[in-house]
Amino acid sequence: MLNVDLHCHSNVSDGLLAPAEVARLAKANGVNVWALTDHDELGGIPEAREAARDLGMHYVTGVEISVTWGGQTVHIVGLRIDENNEQLKQGLAATRSGRERRAREIGDQLSAVGIPGAYEGALKFVGNPDLISRTHFARFLIERGSCGSISEVFTKYLVEGKPGYVPHRWATLKEAVSWIRGAGGVAVIAHPGRYKFSETLFDELLLQFKESGGAGIEVITGSHTVDQYAEYAGVARRNGMLASRGSDFHGPGESRVELGTLPSLPRDLVPVWHDWAL
Ligand code: AMP
Ligand code: MN
Ligand code: MN
Ligand code: MN
Repeated sequence: MLNVDLHCHSNVSDGLLAPAEVARLAKANGVNVWALTDHDELGGIPEAREAARDLGMHYVTGVEISVTWGGQTVHIVGLRIDENNEQLKQGLAATRSGRERRAREIGDQLSAVGIPGAYEGALKFVGNPDLISRTHFARFLIERGSCGSISEVFTKYLVEGKPGYVPHRWATLKEAVSWIRGAGGVAVIAHPGRYKFSETLFDELLLQFKESGGAGIEVITGSHTVDQYAEYAGVARRNGMLASRGSDFHGPGESRVELGTLPSLPRDLVPVWHDWAL
């Protein structure tokens, strides 16, 4: 039985555990094909690969790239990439580069609504100084008792119209897909159910993604409801896209879904791993 989990995070981005610890959890949960997909970062890959090899899991190199498209942030997962590809490395470095200044502005905004010290507070949770993210601010807000959970934070703070929201320009869709393809990988639209596009705009996203060389879409993800599994299975079918499965695990007790515990892909879909030697 294949248990494929192609989306999760370590403390090299905004996860709680080191790459090797994530690997051990994946293995303990029965995962046998595994990708670590840190945000805009390849730094965890050597440790993850070595741990997966020691544990006897099939390892897939991965990354989750932040993209700005249609006025929203869209995430594109790259799988089976060559992590030594120069263009990919440079593109990700450029994508990461605005995070520090953005974080200071998030801190200033929170300070203005009576939450001082948020930048320093968030930094305490950061494993990689290059990758301070809203998740780290969320952990700080929970620690100080402003919110009870990550999902509550993302309704009251850090999102459009709420304190601590700082708009940011990430990579373009074309760039992200071309970096992934240039590094020999396959590009997958992450958690499509999270975006708030009109139907027309979502169709346009799929069109531009495919025109750029993108091929896959996450159908079974920790970010989807059961209804959305069916909805995005339909999207994959109608648009001839490869389907992916991934928990989007960030840490024990913090993520809605544990590694490797999601339902299987609907049988009639073509999995993104259909032509991998597994
Ligand atoms: P950033 O890249 O700094 O904008 O942070 C984005 C991260 O925040 C995502 O990768 C998630 O880990 C987290 N996040 C964003 N929105 C939500 C949400 N609604 N619920 C839980 N986590 C979220
Ligand atoms: Mn994240
Ligand atoms: Mn994401
Ligand atoms: Mn993710």
